[in-house]
Amino acid sequence: MTTYLDFAATTPLDDRVLQRMLPYFQQDFGNPSSIHHPGQTADHAVEDSRRMIADCLGADTTEIIITSCGTESDNLALRGTAFAERQRRNANHILTTPVEHHAVLHTVQQLHELHEFEVEVLPVDEYGMVDPDDVQKRIRKETAIVSVIYANNEIGTVNPIAEIGAICRQHGVAFHTDAVQAIAHLDVNVQCDNVDLLALGAHKFYGPKGVGALFIKKGTSILPVQTGGKQEFGLRAGTQNVPYIVGMAEALKITKNELAMNTAPLKEMRDRIIGQVLEEIPESQLTGHPVQRLPNHASFVFRGVDGNELLMLLDLAGFACSSGSACKVGNPTPSEVLTSIGLTPDWALGSLRVTLGRQTTAEQVEAFITTLKELVLKARKL
Ligand SMILES: *Cc1c(COP(=O)(O)O)cnc(C)c1O
Repeated sequence: MTTYLDFAATTPLDDRVLQRMLPYFQQDFGNPSSIHHPGQTADHAVEDSRRMIADCLGADTTEIIITSCGTESDNLALRGTAFAERQRRNANHILTTPVEHHAVLHTVQQLHELHEFEVEVLPVDEYGMVDPDDVQKRIRKETAIVSVIYANNEIGTVNPIAEIGAICRQHGVAFHTDAVQAIAHLDVNVQCDNVDLLALGAHKFYGPKGVGALFIKKGTSILPVQTGGKQEFGLRAGTQNVPYIVGMAEALKITKNELAMNTAPLKEMRDRIIGQVLEEIPESQLTGHPVQRLPNHASFVFRGVDGNELLMLLDLAGFACSSGSACKVGNPTPSEVLTSIGLTPDWALGSLRVTLGRQTTAEQVEAFITTLKELVLKARKL
């Protein structure tokens, strides 16, 4: 049996969520856009789910758009707002960070290359954290959108989102945050966080893969990216995936309800791993912030280790972890995130991300620590 320690990559579907989803595959299979009873049953399921999601985020029901994943939510937020703000007021400048997920990074790159937006990258500190003062210094009247990741998937650092949001609001500039990692572990609230756009993906919080949501604050200028029918307030055409939407709403409700209960044990196990690794493995470093980090997230670099080799050794020993980045076998280039926090390749190529979840036990953590100590030594000899 493999011990799964990669909950930042994806989480297993909660059984309570699956039970909620099942009737909508065959029994209540209607199209939510149809006028008849089966259609209305499906439409009610979608609208009840929308309300549940809105309640969990502190949003209004009309501010929640259902998408196919976190990636699509980021795409709609960035493209939709950038194009709308250019059309509305000639805004041509995008402000973002070097620690974004590829869903944001590659989208702003294309907005630059194909659509000639000027993309400016904010500095981050050694922990990958954005300083709100730097947003204040760089935001302009022609800024179309600011995009800052809520909590980083590779290194776990949590950004001061509410403060950055307040600055954007003062300047009347739309603020987007990728909260795909944050939502499973932090008390995300769109009002307290001063955000205009916020992206979610259900499979990171024990919901199904292939469904996500985007919060869009009332009054935000945005154009659809996927055009067609009038679904999702005209912002995301296509027949809704009813069972998955029902599943996402249930998963989010459970996550919110059990947040406090789950956080303390996760933090304790996370800190046990961090403490033991730094103490017992020579030439190891924690990546990301020591305190302002996700409660389930431990990430390291080991000098002189090939991160992919280490992952394979761990896998053979029965532990599923990640390097934190999509590092190609055979063509080792260090991740942009690790380079941006100032790590040189001899450190950055030896990255390891260990992310815990609802199924993780203290016994698994102890066994993992013992194995990791041996395997880092072994990887260094390869
Ligand atoms: C997983 C993830 C995404 C992509 O979400 P999908 O639903 O898998 O498309 C985007 N941003 C972050 C921070 C993520 O961790």
